[in-house]
Amino acid sequence: MTLYTNTVPKIQVCLLLLFLFIIPLKAQDNSPIRFKTVVIDAGHGGKDSGAVGKLSQEKNIVLSIALKVGAYIKENMPDVEVVYTRSTDVFVPLDERAEIANKAKADLFVSIHGNSISNPKIYGAETFVLGLHRSEENLEVAKKENSVIILEDDYTTKYEGFDPTQPESYIIFELMQNVYLDQSIAVASLVQNQFEQRVGRHNRGVKQAGFLVLRKTSMPGILVEVGFLSNPKEEKYMMSEDGQSYIASGIFRAIRDYRDRFEARNNISVSSPALKSDHAKQSDSALDDSKKEKKASKILFRVQIASSSQKVSNEYGVLALFNDVWMYQENNMYKYTTGSSSSYKEICDILAEVRKKVPDSFIVAFDGSERVPVSSVE
Ligand SMILES: [Zn+2]
Repeated sequence: MTLYTNTVPKIQVCLLLLFLFIIPLKAQDNSPIRFKTVVIDAGHGGKDSGAVGKLSQEKNIVLSIALKVGAYIKENMPDVEVVYTRSTDVFVPLDERAEIANKAKADLFVSIHGNSISNPKIYGAETFVLGLHRSEENLEVAKKENSVIILEDDYTTKYEGFDPTQPESYIIFELMQNVYLDQSIAVASLVQNQFEQRVGRHNRGVKQAGFLVLRKTSMPGILVEVGFLSNPKEEKYMMSEDGQSYIASGIFRAIRDYRDRFEARNNISVSSPALKSDHAKQSDSALDDSKKEKKASKILFRVQIASSSQKVSNEYGVLALFNDVWMYQENNMYKYTTGSSSSYKEICDILAEVRKKVPDSFIVAFDGSERVPVSSVE
């Protein structure tokens, strides 16, 4: 009797403890990383009309396109949340747009704009990522889009003395560390490919410039210039229901492709084959090799190709495409890399090769065993 009454609570306590330990671990190990939220940012609005064509204003065209992109996402990717920075004709300051995206912990920020230039013959679509302009032409686009802050109250304080019209102000974009550059370029390329191959638009390419709206967002982000309002034919196309639908479907498909790659890269598999002992040995010896390399040179660059919540075999998924896979652990994730070099230039060459197989792979840097931001050491 005594034995019975004492034993039952003990078993219950043990079961409870077991339950407490197992459930959180299982939930953590088996929950795949999902692409959850995308922010769609229609440029301008309200008192800020943006570029003005003969028949239209940028703010109206880009709002229609943004709402269509959002509708396509909701219809075809119901598990992805769409957050708009504006869904009506209202003025939203640039820093507020970034704040909306950061608060939503978005996985991607897509800003939609229309272009204008003095030469009416110029037409086509281009997609920007954040960085220092490499041509005057790119700087002009950034100047034009950033100049909207002049309509905001107290813009000199809010943007720390940034003067959108002065080229000197743009030096901040040279000093900036854009940790999302690789992912942003990947999604920008997908948009331009969609425009060219599926929508038949003139592809003006993926470009870099210093856009304030992208600067404060803490996620991969792009700014799409869907076409020129200053070109009469393109203006009519962008004003038409069909034109807007085509442009929106191109942006939507690019986001969908990026989502698929994002999830494939982050979740190799949760039902992967068990790790063979020889693979374990291989990764151990890889670790030894890397230690030797690190002794010779403190910073070592690698190309990250995948990550997973569970340890997987080097023969699994994209890992099978490479014969020098090296793994490290970070934030309870197993992250897989290929190639290594102490030279940034050399790792860029390796990255170019790896990208032919894994388009959104990116460079990671290690100081000893500690991962450090690439931009701090390149
Ligand atoms: Zn604009």
